Amino acid sequence: MEYFKFFNPTKIVFGKNTINQIGEYVAEHKFKKVIILYGGGSIKSNGVYDSVVNSFKLNNIEWIEFAGVQPNPVVNHAREAIKMIKEYGAEAIIAVGGGSVIDEAKAIAAGIYVEDVWNILERKETITKALPLFTVLTLSATGTEMNSFAVLSNPEEKKKWSFGSPYSFPLVSIIDPTVQTSLPWRQTINGGVDSISHILELYFAGDETAEPTLAVNEALIRTIISSVDKLQLDESDYDSRANLAWCASLALSGFSSVAMNGGEWTVHRIEHAISVLFPKVAHAEGLAVVFPAWIKYVNKENPERFRRWAKNIFNDDNIEDGIESLIKIFKKWKAPVTLSELGINPDFIPALAENAMQQGTLGNFRKIEYDDVVNILNLTL
Ligand SMILES: [Zn+2]
Repeated sequence: MEYFKFFNPTKIVFGKNTINQIGEYVAEHKFKKVIILYGGGSIKSNGVYDSVVNSFKLNNIEWIEFAGVQPNPVVNHAREAIKMIKEYGAEAIIAVGGGSVIDEAKAIAAGIYVEDVWNILERKETITKALPLFTVLTLSATGTEMNSFAVLSNPEEKKKWSFGSPYSFPLVSIIDPTVQTSLPWRQTINGGVDSISHILELYFAGDETAEPTLAVNEALIRTIISSVDKLQLDESDYDSRANLAWCASLALSGFSSVAMNGGEWTVHRIEHAISVLFPKVAHAEGLAVVFPAWIKYVNKENPERFRRWAKNIFNDDNIEDGIESLIKIFKKWKAPVTLSELGINPDFIPALAENAMQQGTLGNFRKIEYDDVVNILNLTL
């Protein structure tokens, strides 16, 4: 572990009823006019919206709101929000929701200062500035509440791409695990699968001498598994909900990436191809199908690391048993584990592979080309 940089300026406010504090944090930064961004409106039925706006009223903060962020957020919606913000003169963005809302908010925050927001994703314009972003997290999964990355889709061009910038960290993120107790089970497991996948993308690519990060990452995965297992028995179990939430944030906060060589990210790139061509597939569902197949395909390149993973996560003595244990857990949680369970016909594999290769070679310790993607997807049948 010879050289690394670590930077994470996001303030996390975690715990029961912390949403009521959002107005105080916005006021502390002297912002008076903000825009609230959210998705389909569940925040209006579960009390989150009321807590946020009451807190704004108490702190004399004016707001406008923009709803309708989609589960795979799209560039056109972000463009509309940018227009609104410019007209209204909002000084900050308040993203209230899960990963999709926060990711779109990051694109909007940076998009205000460039000619067109999609140029950021195409690497045609660079982020040099962004509107301050506050988040109220309602679904722990992607870790976006505590990092500088975001994913945005352009359905017309069939592109689901990501970007990151030091200007894209949220200023303050509120994580109140109690608002997640009313989530449908599918969302809870999606959170578990996505956060495990983030850690695995990093862990398998990492420096073998980086014992602190490897050990922390193993502990995070074990805690995520035991928390989701407990929630499957009792969805209102606060401690498991809280542990899952914090693990999901840490999974992609920078702590888990130290000396992990930037990670692998092959499975995410393949999944993005799946969910841009089949938008009904949730991100984590695609990951649950592709991750075990990728491990089967590449483990011989770094057998020591995969053996360590099987032993330290599942207490299995060999890699094959570790892969089976992972699939068994996903099945127990009722996550899909085959392409057909996603409703995708194998005839689409070439199109998926082509889409996954849009930005060039995948992977890090194991480079992945078009034929490899086809082979990996053939292991998901
Ligand atoms: Zn993910």
